Amino acid sequence: MAFPDNRQWHEECGVVGFYEVDHAATHAFMALQSLQHRGQQGCGIAAVHPDGSLGLHKGAGLVKEVFKKETIDSLPGTSCIGHVRYPTTNVGGQENLQPFLYTSREHPFALAHNGNIVNAERVKSYLEKRGHLFHSTSDSELFADLVGSNLHGGDWHKAIAQAVRLLDGAYATVILTPHALFACRDRYGFRPLSLGRMGNGYVVASETCALDTVGATFVRDVEPGELLAIDARGVHSTFLARTGSHCMCAMEYIYFARPDSVIEGCSVHAFRRRSGVLLQAEHPAPADLVTCVPESSMSAAIGFAEASGLPLEMGLIKNMYVARTFIQPTQSMRDVGVRMKLAAVPSIVRGKSVAVIDDSIVRGTTSRILVQMLRDAGATAVHMRIASPPYAWPCFYGIDTGTRDQLLAADRTVEQIRDFIGADSVEYLSTHALLEASGRTQLCTACFDGNYPTDLYQDN
Ligand code: SF4
Repeated sequence: MAFPDNRQWHEECGVVGFYEVDHAATHAFMALQSLQHRGQQGCGIAAVHPDGSLGLHKGAGLVKEVFKKETIDSLPGTSCIGHVRYPTTNVGGQENLQPFLYTSREHPFALAHNGNIVNAERVKSYLEKRGHLFHSTSDSELFADLVGSNLHGGDWHKAIAQAVRLLDGAYATVILTPHALFACRDRYGFRPLSLGRMGNGYVVASETCALDTVGATFVRDVEPGELLAIDARGVHSTFLARTGSHCMCAMEYIYFARPDSVIEGCSVHAFRRRSGVLLQAEHPAPADLVTCVPESSMSAAIGFAEASGLPLEMGLIKNMYVARTFIQPTQSMRDVGVRMKLAAVPSIVRGKSVAVIDDSIVRGTTSRILVQMLRDAGATAVHMRIASPPYAWPCFYGIDTGTRDQLLAADRTVEQIRDFIGADSVEYLSTHALLEASGRTQLCTACFDGNYPTDLYQDN
């Protein structure tokens, strides 16, 4: 499995949906831009035209590259869904861009989802044996096929319920029909999805930052296993599946989500700041100053600096103009890629012992380069403090982090990790502190402890 760069995790897509909102596609364009951090490979918007037909535009690239005024104007109407994509199934073809349009004369619809269906191969092969044809490797097409093929008599609720019953894994899904918007979350609650109000209409979005961007008022989170049907009669809720567990992805809080988002009542910035405070309490550093790895660890670094009484300095800076998806085929080119993206500031770190706060270490190559950069810039010591537990297990729920043998912490002790990255010390936040920072009793922490909340269907 190749990594597009050697920094970290790869984001896992974002969805939005609008129902009865003026200039819905324009608002979707704005909302998708605020979810751009969740995926930069491609994006799309499907809308209900005033005549009741469905229109779609999607393409590879950033939202601002794919959508121009003309394309947004070609999607009139008051209801639409949108998607930003990172190729979670490790396949980046155009055919996998979303939303998917299910073209049926009687019951056309569009569907977009984020996450990963863990039993997709099994369900797909069952359907293929029964004559179903698939044109992509995307789980969304499978989801759409299941909904479409069960739409007897136009009973949307029954058709979606049937798909949800068969599909296992992590997803937040939006479905647009000529007369309604549906939104549902998987039964475990891995991926966030929020409902907002906008004028007389409604908005759903992967993160509340998208609601804020379009001026919507947050109403509530969609619950695990819940299906919302939004139509002319209002919002109707049904629970299609319940597990009793509530396994929000811990990495949403640690890294993926924007700091101004609030996930299930917990501010992402506040979570990260608290994790920095707890990290300092668990593992103080003999340092002169604290710095973050821009920018996802900024909130944790603020907490760590506050708790330690050390100054928070800009010891590392980030070049905002380097493409995040730039593919570097060799290790030496990937190393150059890191140096293009990040640089140490000699006037700040020279002669200083530096505590570097990062959100996570996946393969460790970036951390190793950062430590060397800081030493080259004159730091006398580099103490890495990681605001999450050691990442030792691959994610099967929509996060492309590679296989276990590619993960630095899979078979190394913390001392061996310190040796690999060349720091003076390395320490990690405990799982206990992670939960304490979130104020929750349950999160998915499978990439730290290997306790996967679902069956992984590895007999496929
Ligand atoms: S395994 Fe890790 S990245 Fe994947 S859903 Fe669970 S916490 Fe999130």
